[in-house]
Amino acid sequence: MTTTVPHHLNLVDGEWVDGERRPNGNPARPGEVVSEYAVAGRDTARAAIEAARRAQPGWAGQPIGSRMDILDRIGTTILRRTEELAVLLSREEGKLLSEARGEVTRAGQTFRYYAHQLLQPQGEVYSSTRPRVHAEVRRRPLGVVGIITPWNYPIAIPAWKVAPALAYGNAVVLKPAELVTASAGELARIINESGMPPGVFNLVMGAGRVVGEELLTSTGIDGISFTGGTGTGSHVAQQCLAHGNKRFQLEMGGKNPLVVLDDADLEVAVRCALDGSFFSSGQRCTASSRLIVQAGIHDRFVEALAAAAGALRVGDPLDPLSELGPVVSPEQLSQNLDYVRIGRDEGATVVAGGTHRPDEGQFMRPTLFADARNDMRVAREEIFGPVACVISVDDLDEAISVAGDTEYGLSAGIVTTSLSAAERFKRDARSGIVSVNLPTAGTELHLPFGGTGASNHGPREQGGYARDFYSVPVTCYTGW
Ligand code: NAD
Repeated sequence: MTTTVPHHLNLVDGEWVDGERRPNGNPARPGEVVSEYAVAGRDTARAAIEAARRAQPGWAGQPIGSRMDILDRIGTTILRRTEELAVLLSREEGKLLSEARGEVTRAGQTFRYYAHQLLQPQGEVYSSTRPRVHAEVRRRPLGVVGIITPWNYPIAIPAWKVAPALAYGNAVVLKPAELVTASAGELARIINESGMPPGVFNLVMGAGRVVGEELLTSTGIDGISFTGGTGTGSHVAQQCLAHGNKRFQLEMGGKNPLVVLDDADLEVAVRCALDGSFFSSGQRCTASSRLIVQAGIHDRFVEALAAAAGALRVGDPLDPLSELGPVVSPEQLSQNLDYVRIGRDEGATVVAGGTHRPDEGQFMRPTLFADARNDMRVAREEIFGPVACVISVDDLDEAISVAGDTEYGLSAGIVTTSLSAAERFKRDARSGIVSVNLPTAGTELHLPFGGTGASNHGPREQGGYARDFYSVPVTCYTGW
């Protein structure tokens, strides 16, 4: 009996465009093909950009009521199809079904949120210093936006870029990561069936150095919103500057600290670290990969966290009993295991995990290093797997200093019962997001998201702040 594998095509000007088909696998079940996708070449990307250019003025000119209706319909459809989309996402990316449900829900809510953002004021009026002059700041769309996304949030990241881009009157060409084309393909179907005029939203799937590069170098693109690794982000920045001085927004890597002070509730500290370091197999840019722990609680914390990490059930993400899924690819698994070796060679001690499950699938046990120092590679480089290291410190001053001693600056957390320590940390942590007594990895869609240093360049994403990237302020003076 032959079974048909679902497939996803590129979307250009409202038409589905085929290409060479490539399979997309399940990291929990090697050999299982989740879907096939049509690989786009530079010509398909060019056609998508041209279609977006033609469609953008008409879309921006539509009354906001009709833009709102379409965005709301996209969000509602995503929410109605949550279970089916979550299973697909979980099968192609490997996160637990419960996490995938949360991600799909977030994507749906994001479209609905931006539908309603259109009712917010879109400009400002100033008093002019000149007589009989009216001064105002209006917003106009950026134009055609290229959106380049990573694999670790296959639907939420495309949603939190595409939804505001469309809401503020832009046309979009989305290039998702190759590992997660099924989620992007389903999102494209939903958008295409929502009543969206052809060409306003386009999907091109393929290699970064081919279709991604076409977006970066094309004069038909006005801005790039990118999420991915810091190395790729630097390249994106250089290409945008070299090709038409495009506007760009980069959200990149992290090496996020979670500080645990002596006065912390041990249970809260372990819960925050377990979630922040290991859930989603540590494949979150906001994961707590450096646990900076004060000496008085250090040994109890390490013992309790190692026990809790060791007890996590690693298994198929669709099995409701699993607490940790696989890592995304064999390459990622081997990189994680390399870092285990590097950490040991540097003198850190593995107190939990350190190995992968020797059966089928890319399953890595949650891994905790004790006796780490902040100058070790495992404490400086983003591993992007279920690996965290514990660094011992004497007091809050040292904790803040170690937390900030990194090129990154995305998310930082502290576990403490001291109000003054929490306030100081919020003030002094060199980071775009700060959490107190919560995991570093939980964020909300209506609040700004982004980092500092090597984690970010450009305006914040999400919430009302997204408008700063997707629209251009125009200062208008009218004499009367
Ligand atoms: P990546 O940098 O390898 O790829 C990201 C995207 O860029 C992919 O779509 C890829 O195809 C594309 N790309 C690669 N080369 C390109 C080129 N030359 N031109 C144009 N596009 C190109 O990242 P990844 O492995 O997919 O994702 C993991 C990384 O993403 C981690 O570093 C993680 O921290 C980061 N991330 C950051 C955030 C955040 O908001 N700060 C969120 C999620 C993930």
